[in-house]
Amino acid sequence: MTADQSLPAWWCGDCDRRTRLAADGRRCARCNPLADRDADPDRRPWCGRCDQRDRMVRDEAGARKCRACHPLGRPPQQWPMHDVPDGYTEQLLACEWLCHISPTLRRIGSDRLRVLLQLWFEAGWTPRDVLYGLDSLPTGEPQIGEVPTAASDPKVTEAYVKRRLRAWLDDDNHPIPAINQQVTANRTKALAAQLAARQDWQRRERLAVPPSRARGAAQARLIASQAAARSLRRRRSADERERAQRTADLATGHEAAERWKELLSGGRPAEPPLPRPRTRPAPDSATS
Ligand SMILES: [Zn+2]
Ligand SMILES: [Zn+2]
Repeated sequence: MTADQSLPAWWCGDCDRRTRLAADGRRCARCNPLADRDADPDRRPWCGRCDQRDRMVRDEAGARKCRACHPLGRPPQQWPMHDVPDGYTEQLLACEWLCHISPTLRRIGSDRLRVLLQLWFEAGWTPRDVLYGLDSLPTGEPQIGEVPTAASDPKVTEAYVKRRLRAWLDDDNHPIPAINQQVTANRTKALAAQLAARQDWQRRERLAVPPSRARGAAQARLIASQAAARSLRRRRSADERERAQRTADLATGHEAAERWKELLSGGRPAEPPLPRPRTRPAPDSATS
């Protein structure tokens, strides 16, 4: 990775080669890709139509930031925070947006911030990763040390950015994977593991012996069918015993009923009366 890779192709030779800023701090009109835009909103000259002290426009509609000269009066084009800026111009646009949303980083100015973050953007870091990296260590713990304010010296702020991002360099001074890359890598790994598990399962299913041929299953089925046959036999013999008992009872009852009928119709019983039928008391026996 060379530093020249994301520089605009042509360099005028008069300005700073890396920042493309002229000696007066303004964007080089000849070779800065965003020369037509304000380099540093803090340096916008007073337009003469607003309140000079706070660059606010006050009229019957209320107070609002002057679009012509307030540092925040004209927001830069928004850079999607989860997109990796590719190339000089995109990196500069992303840094303009970072400077707009972060009062601390604003002190550096987007052109100088781009130089600081170039290495990180080229390693696939997004602006969101940069903000996270400034606040947190790779372990997830918060970074220690003071954060420069919006009024700090730009050099102090630059040193702060360099110092905090140094925690995210490996032994070869290359940025370690950013949070978004780590999350993506983890997700990819998890998906790959799921896919492998599913394929393994499908392969085993194809190779599996059908249940009807598995030895263990056959044995279990044999035992179950033997048990079923045993219980069927047991139930059958119980049924048979009950049926025989019922037939015997019925015969006894029938015989007894015949005797009672004979007795009641006046005939002399040949033998003493038998006990009443067990199964069903005869209705006429109740009347006697
Ligand atoms: Zn130039
Ligand atoms: Zn103004």
